[in-house]
Amino acid sequence: MAEGTDGGFMEKLAKELSQYGQVAENVSFRTMTTLRIGGNARIVVYPKNILALTQVIREIKEAGAPFKVIGKGSNLLCSDNDFNGVVIRLDRSFTEHYFDHDICYAEAGCSIIALAYEAMKNSLSGLEFASGIPATVGGVTFMNAGAYKSNMADVLQEVFVYRDGQLVWMDAEDCEFGYRTSVFQKHRDWIILAVKIKLSAGVEEQIRALMDQRRARRIASQPLEHPSAGSVFRNPEGRAAWQYIEDIGYRGKSVGGACVSEKHVNFIVNKGNAKASDFMQLVVEIQQKVKEQFDVELHMEVEKFNW
Ligand SMILES: Cc1cc2nc3c(=O)[nH]c(=O)nc-3n(C[C@H](O)[C@H](O)[C@H](O)COP(=O)(O)OP(=O)(O)OC[C@H]3O[C@@H](n4cnc5c(N)ncnc54)[C@H](O)[C@@H]3O)c2cc1C
Repeated sequence: MAEGTDGGFMEKLAKELSQYGQVAENVSFRTMTTLRIGGNARIVVYPKNILALTQVIREIKEAGAPFKVIGKGSNLLCSDNDFNGVVIRLDRSFTEHYFDHDICYAEAGCSIIALAYEAMKNSLSGLEFASGIPATVGGVTFMNAGAYKSNMADVLQEVFVYRDGQLVWMDAEDCEFGYRTSVFQKHRDWIILAVKIKLSAGVEEQIRALMDQRRARRIASQPLEHPSAGSVFRNPEGRAAWQYIEDIGYRGKSVGGACVSEKHVNFIVNKGNAKASDFMQLVVEIQQKVKEQFDVELHMEVEKFNW
């Protein structure tokens, strides 16, 4: 339903939800994603705590409205259409973390970069790989994000999840982690609330040096000066996605405001007012050409939402 055609139904839902946390209406996905692309979300809610979150879900289900939990929106390509549903964000209230020797408990809305720095200050090693990923703990767990041959599954012991009306600590072994995959991608209505991470004792200066070195590498190799959603394609078996994109001659290729980065060809950047459709046109052209020339299927790592 378009805004104004739902007989005040969503307005009523927004009012109901506002007792459980901050609510905003008609918020552009451009302000909620690192790519800065997309239409408006009808309702955005920041639940105050777990009890409030369970009530938010109950209200949404009763209303029969669609919902989507998002982190920092750093892996999302939202369509240019409006989303007549509820976006749930945990990055205001679910931001506590605790260290207990080499164990860290962190809520899903924590910034993984901030957490990596906190671990470093506690002389704990294990999160250096994540110190440049502009994401939340929940999003990194959902994606099993990684870099430099490490990923989130390497440090995760347990994940605290709200699923089917129950609060459950799941063992990492039951989370089906693989290359940028997890069980959470199969169960889109499960909500990651927190994680238990096992780190190892290290030397603060050495951890800092490694993080600094990696930050410098990212700055040198990634187009951080433009909005993006990180790597667009997953790496197929045996050869990196960027090599195929290079070989089809797409470095610097643009459609509207979307452009294959000159600096890192597996990034498509928003050079200003790019539409989701511009981005997808480039994606489809790349997939078709790589298939024609190499008989290889490139699959998106960036998630399409609300298409
Ligand atoms: C500059 C840049 C660099 C990047 N570098 C890397 C990198 O080195 N390695 C890498 O792997 N990725 C990288 N990425 C991609 C991105 O940061 C990761 O995919 C990250 O895991 C997304 O986290 P997020 O919090 O932004 O989640 P979002 O993009 O907001 O959401 C991603 C998915 O996770 C789900 N989700 C989020 N939180 C929860 C939750 N609490 N419960 C259930 N589901 C949830 C959402 O519904 C959505 O389906 C990069 C992105 C950018 C922009």
